[in-house]
Amino acid sequence: MFLKLPPKVVRILNVLQNHGYEAFAVGGCVRDTVLGRAPDDWDITTSAHPQEVKHLFVRTVDTGLAHGTVTVLLGEDSYEVTTYRIDGAYEDHRHPSQVQFSAELAEDLRRRDFTINAMAYNQEQGLVDLFGGMQDLQKKRICCVGDAHERFQEDALRILRAVRFSAQLGFSIESDTEEALRELAQSLSYVSEERIQSELVKLLLSAHPDYVLRLFDTGIASVILPEMEASEETARSLCRIPSEKPLRLALFLHALGEKKAERLLRLLKFDNHTIDTVRKLVRWRKEPITANPACVRRAAAKIGIHLFPMVLQMQEIDRDVSEIRAVWEEVVREGQCISLNSLAVSGNDLIALGMKPGQRIGKALNELLKEVLEKPEYNTREYLLESVKRKWLQ
Ligand code: ATP
Ligand code: MG
Repeated sequence: MFLKLPPKVVRILNVLQNHGYEAFAVGGCVRDTVLGRAPDDWDITTSAHPQEVKHLFVRTVDTGLAHGTVTVLLGEDSYEVTTYRIDGAYEDHRHPSQVQFSAELAEDLRRRDFTINAMAYNQEQGLVDLFGGMQDLQKKRICCVGDAHERFQEDALRILRAVRFSAQLGFSIESDTEEALRELAQSLSYVSEERIQSELVKLLLSAHPDYVLRLFDTGIASVILPEMEASEETARSLCRIPSEKPLRLALFLHALGEKKAERLLRLLKFDNHTIDTVRKLVRWRKEPITANPACVRRAAAKIGIHLFPMVLQMQEIDRDVSEIRAVWEEVVREGQCISLNSLAVSGNDLIALGMKPGQRIGKALNELLKEVLEKPEYNTREYLLESVKRKWLQ
């Protein structure tokens, strides 16, 4: 089988091989190339030890020397080059207590999680597929390398990765792998929240977000998503909303309500910006907005200019929002004011008029914004300054 490798990958493989080492592209990049998908990144596996790799390339980063990984920089691009390795005993269901370098490609492939992720390729030897990865790609299934039970016991994150890859690729999970995954779902409690977060997001953003249902019917959800219940309707809706993190998260968590959704996101260590955005989207999912300019402006002022279009995308799941969208587009096209920032006067203008700095200024500006949200044509300096004189400086 011939696979087209990027020229820089070929260059790295050649340098290593010309110095007497073995080197292959490995893992996700081989899987994706076979499937005709563009890989996110190219990983290289080699018999060379990290110090030897560092010696052969001008620009390198010590990414994880203890685990054998050196990042090679070529122009704008970077490639992880990792020494063949055998993972020692796993003690905490997540990390091998030690790793050992090896001279055998086969040993490096054996430590990998799934057959479709355990193939290597170079132009001299072609595809090295020792565990039936090609067959599983053809059969569209996720299958552990070796004994599934053992592999999930070693590293519980693989349980979640199995479901995530199945959702990204639209694959089934092979029966032994699935059985082991159900049996060991509880051990996901040993995995860090950050890793769970990252897998969950990849699953939700995948081409088959409805596969989240598998988290529930395998028992995974009870460990990583406490308090959540399976909903087929939500799963179906997820397929109908664009693959954007806040949208899919908000839709997924909507049934929990704003408070519990926030608590879950905090538990999974999401960043504040994501939490804040998702919380607002959950809150506004069902709020009525009428296709009337003043109502749209008021809603957009409360929600925020950037989030308003996302709220419409959320609401679109349940109803036709085309009229609201048309009104919104007009508001944007005309540059109508919907926030304090675009008000024709500022706090300093009010101070110049004779108002004392302090809370009243904020109140006055908000009152002006309210007027302008009703009637955009009021957003002129003259009108607003007059209004302030009339209402606030008497
Ligand atoms: P993607 O990057 O598209 O999510 P990937 O297959 O490249 O998918 P990575 O997490 O980047 O996944 O890992 C690269 C390779 O390392 C995998 O293909 C697999 O061979 C191996 N690997 C990664 N994580 C594990 C793990 N937890 N257990 C065993 N092997 C793993
Ligand atoms: Mg990868």
